[in-house]
Amino acid sequence: MVNEGKLSLENQQKLDKLQEELASARDTFLGYPVSKDFDYSELNKFFQYPINNLGDPFEQGTYRVRTHEMEREVIAFFAKLFRANPKDFWGYVTNGGSESNLYGLYIARELFPKAMVYYSESTHYSVRKNIHLLNIPSIVIKSQENGEMDYEDFENTVRMNRHKPVIVLATFGTTMKEAKDDIGRIKGILSNLAIQDHYIHCDAALAGSFGPFMQPRLPFDFMDGADSISISGHKFIGSPIPTGVLMAKRSNRDRIAKGISYIGSFDTTITGSRNGHSPLFLWYALKQLGVEGLRQRYLHSLAVAEYCEAELQKIGVNAWRNPNAITVVLPKTPQSIKDKWQLATEGNISHVICMPNVTKTQIDEFVNDLKNCTEQIIEEEFSYDFSLS
Ligand SMILES: *Cc1c(COP(=O)(O)O)cnc(C)c1O
Repeated sequence: MVNEGKLSLENQQKLDKLQEELASARDTFLGYPVSKDFDYSELNKFFQYPINNLGDPFEQGTYRVRTHEMEREVIAFFAKLFRANPKDFWGYVTNGGSESNLYGLYIARELFPKAMVYYSESTHYSVRKNIHLLNIPSIVIKSQENGEMDYEDFENTVRMNRHKPVIVLATFGTTMKEAKDDIGRIKGILSNLAIQDHYIHCDAALAGSFGPFMQPRLPFDFMDGADSISISGHKFIGSPIPTGVLMAKRSNRDRIAKGISYIGSFDTTITGSRNGHSPLFLWYALKQLGVEGLRQRYLHSLAVAEYCEAELQKIGVNAWRNPNAITVVLPKTPQSIKDKWQLATEGNISHVICMPNVTKTQIDEFVNDLKNCTEQIIEEEFSYDFSLS
């Protein structure tokens, strides 16, 4: 054993304090889309192995301390859930939705190097950076009030640039309002304008894992017209480590695959070394839950979100939700509420995301805090006093 030294008492206490802080922060947490109700303790034994999923999960590599088989099962699970062509799907477990989006855009750019990317102003902040990294020209489309893409603006903008191939970065579940861009409608517009060279990437980081259970269904998957789909694994499913999944068409991935003899595989993933534990967590969760378990998680979240919306309205708070959403949008709250419940705020709105671990009891406590709060909302103001006193 190389590291024989023991931690000093001081450092031991630091760890204990960190654990207390994490546990307490976890328990009052309504503003971010992260599930906390997981128990992966059965997998603790796998932390003694230097697992690395280096290379393409569907290829034989030379490094064998890996979880590629589980990773392939995770990909196959989502291929079915997202109605991919059984003979034409591919994917891998990423470090999160942002990397999955980068990959979707990367495939799109390799297929159509002269394309323009269109995305709405409600798109996740990481997408802009991805587009910049890939150096693809882009145009931002207006959003409607509910956060969904403004299809009229989209149609008019594409019409003006119709000599160029089109890449659409659609969002299924926007960050603030959980709005869903309608891929059926986007496809219809492209077909009306006779744009043949097009690629649709669906950023379903937030809502993809429960999208298939929505009633009525909203179009977002492969059968609806997506060419690739991203999800985050640590959001609705839950994971101790950030993780995500990228799903694409095998035929498109084949066009960018380049063999690397050093690892005996294809360098088809963004990073070289890849986390081999996170596919294991996802696999474990999906095997335990199955499709039915995921559906039950969604129905629970939906019921809590409906309850939260109704309870907020009862105390006079103007709360609302997009159709089928587990995110409740409300006007910005006072600072003390925002801090205690870790609410993300943008402009004048805030939100409560009813991830599967959120209970009606927590909602009651939150609503009660809001009802009894006497603090005024401080508007951010600029001071025009430039004196340097
Ligand atoms: C969370 C999120 C992302 C980024 O995913 P990470 O897993 O945090 O990298 C991208 N898009 C949307 C819509 C998201 O909700």
